[in-house]
Amino acid sequence: MRAVSRGKMAAPAALSARSGPLKRTELESAAAHMQVPLAAGAKRAAFPFKVYKADEVKQRLEALFHGKCAYCESYFASQAPVDVEHYRPKGAVEGEPNHPGYWWLAMDWTNLLPSCLDCNRRRRQLAPDGAISDLKILYAQTQSGKKDSFPIAGTRAAADTDDISLEDALLLDPTRDNPSDHLTYWFAEGAASGLVLPKATAVGALPAIGTAPQVAAAAAHTELSVKGAVSIQVYGLNRMHLVQERARLVQRLRFMETMVVSLGNVAGALTNAGLGHEPAVQDALRNLRLLQGQILAEMQFSAAPEAPFSALAKNYLTEFKKRVTSLP
Ligand SMILES: [Zn+2]
Repeated sequence: MRAVSRGKMAAPAALSARSGPLKRTELESAAAHMQVPLAAGAKRAAFPFKVYKADEVKQRLEALFHGKCAYCESYFASQAPVDVEHYRPKGAVEGEPNHPGYWWLAMDWTNLLPSCLDCNRRRRQLAPDGAISDLKILYAQTQSGKKDSFPIAGTRAAADTDDISLEDALLLDPTRDNPSDHLTYWFAEGAASGLVLPKATAVGALPAIGTAPQVAAAAAHTELSVKGAVSIQVYGLNRMHLVQERARLVQRLRFMETMVVSLGNVAGALTNAGLGHEPAVQDALRNLRLLQGQILAEMQFSAAPEAPFSALAKNYLTEFKKRVTSLP
């Protein structure tokens, strides 16, 4: 997951357009719908939200996130149309049967994110089970995908007049949080390569976890980012196929690193052998450096905003720079 800024971009006009005989915005219509008194025991019908599905909204989200899922950073624009996802669920909240959902945010630009199917919908997935080992990693069937879940550590907002900042949300939102403060990646060779892990937090900086799910309590206990741990679990960021995709990227980055280092070693050997004054050797050295520069540029490109899993590549490059400066 990578931080993305909505910047000063205005919300798409479709979200606040007026329509129908009463010329109401969708927010006004939804508010009116929620105020209709209900007979005892009756259940309020779901409001037919639709402005969030407008083409303008989809296009804006696709451009902002470069056709990638806001949560897992997989590139899906080439295979499927964007799924507009509500960060705070619009019609229900898992585990809170009396909560109407954050209906007043259903058409709020800051609550909309593009998501792939697997991060957004509840599906059976294979996810790692147990401790990470370099030798093997066991995968087990589990349910993941955000659906209507919105775990919090603070006070739940249940009406449009409630302050959502008091909720202390436990899910990462790449447009509000900096995911790199909460998530890190496992690069060691072996089956665990490409796993995303909650980042260690400074002692004393643990949030109050209130009635948060078990995984939040476990993360707080082991001084790991609670938001990171809960997000990995709820979005299913370690589902098997995703980890395999990220592992392929790690493998590619590792290969490019080996090339850069080897080319540097060959250039060093030629210079140390006292052959640097030979025109043919000077030519070869220039070519070696050029090649090295091209591979480095390719590595950098893996961490660009438009590249899939760019947050992983960014982490890898930080580690790589440390290794390169410590080379003899
Ligand atoms: Zn996703």
